Amino acid sequence: MNKWTRRELLGHSSLLAAALGGAVPLAGESAVPAAARKLKVVVVGAHPDDPESGCGGTMALYADQGHDVTALYLTRGEAGIPGVSMQQAAAMRSAEAARACAILKARPLFAGQIDGDTELNRARYTQFRKILEAETPDIVFTHWPVDTHRDHRAASLLTYDAWLSGGRKFDLYYFEVDQGIQTQIFHPTHYVDIAASVSRKKDACFAHASQHPATDFWPLHEAMDRFRGMECGVKDAEGFIRHCQNVEAQIPTRG
Ligand SMILES: [Zn+2]
Repeated sequence: MNKWTRRELLGHSSLLAAALGGAVPLAGESAVPAAARKLKVVVVGAHPDDPESGCGGTMALYADQGHDVTALYLTRGEAGIPGVSMQQAAAMRSAEAARACAILKARPLFAGQIDGDTELNRARYTQFRKILEAETPDIVFTHWPVDTHRDHRAASLLTYDAWLSGGRKFDLYYFEVDQGIQTQIFHPTHYVDIAASVSRKKDACFAHASQHPATDFWPLHEAMDRFRGMECGVKDAEGFIRHCQNVEAQIPTRG
């Protein structure tokens, strides 16, 4: 892909919009065609702050265009605040997730697993599939499965299993978080220009005050978005890997 011309690159990146019904602004394009119908978008993250940091710019763009956006958190981040009980941390982080989702115009939903102790077994696959299918999504984003955090891997595999066992009824994309530290060997197939929403992405990340965004995860994600922007020729972008067996599979348009 690095040998493609800019025109070819734009043609390729338009795939994501094609798969989404033209819902998201593309790298280098100013006019954004509205989607033909309202889409249901679900972003699956292991913890409060994962959908926002990996996909928050794209979530805001969908919401701007009137689509229904849900952040589905596998856990409530129970293990994420040192010195407080898991119950207290769950309450604090659920409230932070609600604030972040309000900024992105998304709806928070929780899948009932426990931070640091997520499980993959027959019952959990069934439970998660029911939750996801109840949302009747058109498109789902989740963690890339090669990730140093077990909960991220669990969220990814639960989503993948729901997609497979449910008959591939929605389009599946993977996002990255904490590139290099958590997500690894991630090479995007699609990019979304988040110029119009990066400030809201930042605000949504900063809503997770218990996670020290100013010093911890925001600088890393800001650099990640800049780097993905450099790859596709814009200032800030989010990168995704599209599953090639999506129902709405599109053949790349080169130029
Ligand atoms: Zn996480």
